[in-house]
Amino acid sequence: MATTEAKPAAAAENGAQLEEAMRGPVIRPDDPDYDEARKLFNGMIERRPALIARCRDTADVIAAVNHARAEGLTLAVRGGAHNGAGLGSVDDGLVVDLSPMRGIRVDPNARTVRVEGGCTWGDVDHATHAFGLATPSGIISTTGVGGLTLGGGVGHLTRRHGLAIDNLLEADVVLADGSMVRAAEDENPDLFWAIRGGGGNFGVVTSFLFRLHPVGIVNAGPTLWPLERAGDVLRWYREFLPSAPEELNGFFAFLTVPPADPFPPELHMQKMCGVVWCHAGSEAEATEALAPARELEPALYGVQPMPYPALQSAFDALYSAGDQWYWRADLVDEIPDEAVERHVEHGAKAPTMQSTMHLYPIDGAAGRVGNDETPWAYRDAKWTQVIVGVDPDPARAEEIRTWTVDYWEALHPHSAGGSYVNMLGEGEGEDRVRATYGPNYERLAGIKGRYDPDNLFRTNQNIKPAKP
Ligand SMILES: Cc1cc2nc3c(=O)[nH]c(=O)nc-3n(C[C@H](O)[C@H](O)[C@H](O)COP(=O)(O)OP(=O)(O)OC[C@H]3O[C@@H](n4cnc5c(N)ncnc54)[C@H](O)[C@@H]3O)c2cc1C
Repeated sequence: MATTEAKPAAAAENGAQLEEAMRGPVIRPDDPDYDEARKLFNGMIERRPALIARCRDTADVIAAVNHARAEGLTLAVRGGAHNGAGLGSVDDGLVVDLSPMRGIRVDPNARTVRVEGGCTWGDVDHATHAFGLATPSGIISTTGVGGLTLGGGVGHLTRRHGLAIDNLLEADVVLADGSMVRAAEDENPDLFWAIRGGGGNFGVVTSFLFRLHPVGIVNAGPTLWPLERAGDVLRWYREFLPSAPEELNGFFAFLTVPPADPFPPELHMQKMCGVVWCHAGSEAEATEALAPARELEPALYGVQPMPYPALQSAFDALYSAGDQWYWRADLVDEIPDEAVERHVEHGAKAPTMQSTMHLYPIDGAAGRVGNDETPWAYRDAKWTQVIVGVDPDPARAEEIRTWTVDYWEALHPHSAGGSYVNMLGEGEGEDRVRATYGPNYERLAGIKGRYDPDNLFRTNQNIKPAKP
């Protein structure tokens, strides 16, 4: 196999060769649409790749992977470009941009959906909702299917139907040598195990097949309480949620109420705490399950029936592309009183309207999968905790970063140890990646050594290939 050491100078001239091999365009720094094409969701991170290969099909992906390998260009793979650490692009290298690959086919009888590698979750929800079906994903519809799934995938349906990876049935993967293989329980099972949490380390996934569930109308929305009640609400939530029926998902948040509908004007710009609920059952069951939350007399009870895609896109406008974005995450088994106190202290100091802390439940169906059944090594943890500093103004980048890190450092001693690989912040380092995969790291490194021994796929939370 050719060396994968970067040689950026060769990139521009060899782009012509790649262009001939592809159906989609190859965008270079002197193209008028280069600046638009290289933008990432996180405005804090700027990358200037030598070539952006806009792939229309698997053949284009194979051509681009072969080109990067042959020319020794550092390769990045771009799905939805949402990665907080900017891992969907790379300076001076070649970006395999999957965004034109948006085909989706629902099989309502088999209850599956086949999804091309460049889809966003909004694309998928739109297609499956027409059949009254859905598969677990995240909480924002603009996020890419590729990155979210390959790292795990935590969202509104986690307690009821598991992580996104728990619903992945098979995938087509373009490997470092340019070949394409199917990964499933019955074919390349080691690769199939590795891509269910091991990120983009093993190849480019051009197509995913997911299991679907009957989820059409959900009973969803926020309940909000004044910040002064945050300690009581969080202590209630930590006991209530794990014992609630699995149809009920609810992530706890510190937030600032956006100055917009449907929030009442008197709450606009108030710092509050809340829980965003999603009940994937009947309205009567939701009302019964949420009775304890109503008894806590929230300042806003916003739960109502809505189409699942409406819930999935409810936060899109609040978190739009180009904002400054810095986050840190941990996995959490328990929330002791000392942790509640630290949460209340730091949650109250959120520096900007969009800065927030979420505790996403990962118990229920996700918690019943064994720690070594997929690379996600913390199935016994109950929450993924993410602290995220966000603001449109680049001048506030340092401020949101400092708040995030201070908050994270105060809570980290109460965590289970590792992180959620999709929510590692820029520059957290190899130790955090190892801690995140825990005892599964060595198996991942072995599989990496077999499928990508020269580490062509290294613009990711990288797993170092073990010698075969
Ligand atoms: C606003 C926002 C909301 C989010 N909400 C959630 C949430 O609710 N739940 C959750 O679990 N996560 C959430 N995330 C985190 C998200 O899972 C990660 O940021 C993820 O990396 C995004 O995937 P992407 O395809 O959009 O990103 P990209 O930046 O395009 O890619 C991320 C990584 O995945 C690799 N990759 C992407 N597609 C492929 C592919 N097809 N084949 C091989 N490698 C690929 C890339 O090489 C890169 O290393 C959110 C992120 C943001 C910014």
